[in-house]
Amino acid sequence: MSRKRIYEIAKELGISSKDLIAALSDLGMTDLKAANSVDEEEEALIVQMYQDSIASKPTAEASSESEEEEGAPEPKAPKASVKERAKAAAAKGGGSGSNRPPIVSVLGHIDHGKTTLLDAIRQSHLASHEAGGITQGVAAYQADLNGRKITFIDTPGHKAFTGMRARGASATDIAILVVAADDGVMAQTVEAIDHIRAAEIPMIVAVNKIDKSNSDQDKVLNDLVKHGLVPEAWGGDTIAVPISALTGENLEELMEMILLVAEMEELQGDPDGELEGVVIESHLSSSRGPVASVVVRNGTLREKDFLVAGATYGRIKAMNDELRNRLKHVRPGEAAEILGLQDVPEVGAAIEVVGKQAEAKRLAQKHRLDAMKPRRAQPQLTLEDLFGETVEEAKLALVLKAASTGALEAARREVEAIGIEGVEVSFLHAGVGSITESDILLAATVPENCLVIGFGVRADNNATKLADREGAVVQTFDIIYELLDEVERSIKRLLAPEFEEIRVGEAEVRELFKVPTGVVAGCQVIDGKAMRTAQVRVLRGNEELFTGEIASLRRFEDDVREVQNGRDCGVRIKDFDDVAVDDHLVFFTLEEVER
Ligand code: GDP
Repeated sequence: MSRKRIYEIAKELGISSKDLIAALSDLGMTDLKAANSVDEEEEALIVQMYQDSIASKPTAEASSESEEEEGAPEPKAPKASVKERAKAAAAKGGGSGSNRPPIVSVLGHIDHGKTTLLDAIRQSHLASHEAGGITQGVAAYQADLNGRKITFIDTPGHKAFTGMRARGASATDIAILVVAADDGVMAQTVEAIDHIRAAEIPMIVAVNKIDKSNSDQDKVLNDLVKHGLVPEAWGGDTIAVPISALTGENLEELMEMILLVAEMEELQGDPDGELEGVVIESHLSSSRGPVASVVVRNGTLREKDFLVAGATYGRIKAMNDELRNRLKHVRPGEAAEILGLQDVPEVGAAIEVVGKQAEAKRLAQKHRLDAMKPRRAQPQLTLEDLFGETVEEAKLALVLKAASTGALEAARREVEAIGIEGVEVSFLHAGVGSITESDILLAATVPENCLVIGFGVRADNNATKLADREGAVVQTFDIIYELLDEVERSIKRLLAPEFEEIRVGEAEVRELFKVPTGVVAGCQVIDGKAMRTAQVRVLRGNEELFTGEIASLRRFEDDVREVQNGRDCGVRIKDFDDVAVDDHLVFFTLEEVER
């Protein structure tokens, strides 16, 4: 007897499994969510119950409270699948859809099958004519599904992905998150999810290894829900495609999904536009000199172009694809290996084309100088940033690592509870384990205000070196209160300081003396003291005439720092000579207020 999964039944009914589960639990069938799969008899019962529930509720107010349906007065229509949404987007016409191949990166936990997936698609769908030939390390290749192209970046893993972003360049349009169905969501899967979220690009989950007898797709989907990714089959937005990279099962379905998502993203590249592209891999070849793999997002790269790649430059000698076929052009959405640069560029460096060799040299030099400047000193938000129109709230981004899940959750809760008005604190990533290069790279994508915190864990050597280079702030703590104090201090540093006036004394003006530099008020101190470094406020009756600094404070002929109550002194006020007899001078200091 064949068994079906809940989402399969929901799909056949044209609704999400979330809605199916909701409708049936209203009728008392509450264990449906826990059911992995059901037999035919149970399936018939579920379908019957669902249909009864619809019949008994013509107004269908039983619909779930999905945000997208907000305010919809009509009975809830089943949520459109990606396919339907893509079709709708395409039907809109008028420039919708994409006109260049999407550039795709593959991320996920180690051993979940990233490399196998990239190899499998390369073997079966390589766009180049000589598919099956020896492929070379271009770090990207183009796959073809019925004439439609996808460019895969061939360096899997979030380190490469975020390494590019840390340099400020975004190479990827869509991320594939590979999760092995026999293992579920693991530490690096969570890390990858956070990295993809930070990049603000769409993701497709490839639930891999479904050929394995111990694979459990529902567990993967459940795990994903725990991390805020609700699969479409369960009424959410996350596209999950079950695949086997090893047997090739469903790979075309996955590619189809990539193309559909690309369609919705409306990726546009103008071959005649300004060049926009990124170095995705680079090395020094003993026979060919500096070699850089690049992807082009806009414009066209041509042989003999004067190219600037970050801090280096050169005239393009040759370009080739993954099979070392010579290329004359590299168009939007395409990748190529480039020869002719003076030096090996950094991965993630942006590429530009200019008209002359000298200009290329000058630009590269400028980039080199810029790169030598510290990437970040203290957070430097101006008052305008803080209170101006553009930035309403200062932001502090945190990467938090802890020794255990319990410690992580506890620290996270405490940090979230700090809550200081005017500063939004967000977690770029929170995970268990020591601080690694990947954490630093993630932090470096938010160079202004990011703090990497270890709670009971340290940074490994590579991470420490990278943090030095990137100027990332890493702090480790063993005591939660110290950690919280530091976060609080960091938050306060983002806020403009608040000052309080502390009154130190008052003097009355008795006579005036003209001097070459202005007017000196001869005063008697009537309260507290006069202080050279204090601020002064000039009062005439109740009217406040001026507030400013003191240019000089004298007692007889001597410059003094202070003059005590009851004594005479001469005060010259900086930038103010309109002082008159009987005016009062109030001296005060400004002290920063502890928040
Ligand atoms: P990566 O670390 O994510 O790049 O993982 P690999 O691609 O190196 O795969 C790790 C192991 O899982 C290898 O032994 C692969 O052969 C195996 N593997 C990958 N995909 C599948 C799959 O779909 N089914 C099965 N049974 N094994 C797979």
